[in-house]
Amino acid sequence: MSLMSLTALELGEKIKKCEVSAVEAAEDALAAIKKKEGDIGSYVTVLEEEKILQRAKEVQAGIESGELTGAFAGVPVAIKDNMCTEGIRTTCSSKILENFYPTFSAEAVCRLERDGAVMIGKTNMDEFAMGSTTETSAFGITKNPHNTDYVPGGSSGGSCAAVAAGECSFALGSDTGGSIRQPSSFCGVTGLKPTYGTVSRYGLIAYGSSLDQIGPIAKDVADCAAVLESIASYDKKDSTSIRREDTDFTTALEEDVKGMRIGIPRDYFSRGLDTQVADSIMKAAHALEKNGAVLEEFDLSLVEYAIPAYYVIASAEASSNLARFDGVKYGYRTGEYEGLHNMYKKTRSEGFGPEVKRRIMLGSFVLSSGYYDAYYLKALRTKALIKQAFDRAFEKYDLILSPAAPTTAPKIGESLKDPLQMYLGDIYTISVNLAGLPGITVPCGKDDKGLPIGMQLIGDCFKEKTMIRAAYTFEQSTVRGGEQG
Ligand code: GLN
Repeated sequence: MSLMSLTALELGEKIKKCEVSAVEAAEDALAAIKKKEGDIGSYVTVLEEEKILQRAKEVQAGIESGELTGAFAGVPVAIKDNMCTEGIRTTCSSKILENFYPTFSAEAVCRLERDGAVMIGKTNMDEFAMGSTTETSAFGITKNPHNTDYVPGGSSGGSCAAVAAGECSFALGSDTGGSIRQPSSFCGVTGLKPTYGTVSRYGLIAYGSSLDQIGPIAKDVADCAAVLESIASYDKKDSTSIRREDTDFTTALEEDVKGMRIGIPRDYFSRGLDTQVADSIMKAAHALEKNGAVLEEFDLSLVEYAIPAYYVIASAEASSNLARFDGVKYGYRTGEYEGLHNMYKKTRSEGFGPEVKRRIMLGSFVLSSGYYDAYYLKALRTKALIKQAFDRAFEKYDLILSPAAPTTAPKIGESLKDPLQMYLGDIYTISVNLAGLPGITVPCGKDDKGLPIGMQLIGDCFKEKTMIRAAYTFEQSTVRGGEQG
């Protein structure tokens, strides 16, 4: 049996008890990669075997000396390729960063390493995290481990596929508009997007800075809670970082939803939602009800404005954030050019893919004078109204329950034909980022093609523990009673 079939906490426990070593765990991850990478393509970069094993040996020594006591010391982790890793290529799956070797690591990565996790590699993603399928990467697509004719979702598709395929024990992803939750749902794994400000964004290559948040992708809820506990921190290097006292997330791993009020937005179950997904989500909701939760349908309102507001704000921030990739400071520079402006132009034309260019143009347009008020300011006002709609909902409910996506994973090649259609697929996830809320997706069934379906639970700001408690209760009920849809 591969050690990669264990959860990160189970494996960490075995390593701690000296039943297996950190080196054996790393070897099992590498063996799975050798066997499956050709089919799946989860990674942009797998670290050199020698380096991984060397690090595993050092961690093992640290565990034996009592220096490393973290819950997943010695456990193999994969990192989305938009988080800086010192001396390790960090591409954002873009040609423009093909040869970028950061001189420092992202704070979240440092925290995992401090706790003894062993990094295996950097995972594939949509270029600069713009997309929902991991098909816009400059380094090839990632495929869904459940059926390789289908996409793994995106933009953290590589991280989710790596966890689902057992090519690592757990992974980090980032979520600007659903990029942790949607691919987790498509790949049948668990993914958590924390409240904005909970995990430092230092070293996360920015897409939409007011929306981006790093979070865990793992086999189950307990792993997500433990990883979040490790990476959540106040960091003065990130001006939006929040000082929180309540980051002992694993204390919420209890089976108890008695009296918990769960709201189900009626407006999420109307047009466009696949019936098999809807059935599975409602079954999951009733499993929570059986355990004592109180369900109620309600009108969240403003749902149809979330997508336009998000794409205006995210593109505006992206166009500004991506201005730094000019062929001077980072990565790729065009081979031949005439003068400075021509160098900028050719570098960016050759370095960025079509989806990134579309966002830069859209973002520059909505920020330009004359259009700023009509588009960007209006989107910001809409964002404020969406936040108010959630505030009203959380006066009545402890959690909101919804699908993570309107369908299961689409076939490879289907989505890119129609970008607007692809944007519509983000309907259930993006408003969570606009409002800065935490959200988790938990597997809750499969469709008739055998593709996973994920249930999303959304909490009020800083209510990760309530969310974790409900997600854990649901997960345990599926383990016990096969209450899955
Ligand atoms: N699909 C959304 C987008 O393309 C969300 C991506 C993300 O969360 N990074 O912007």
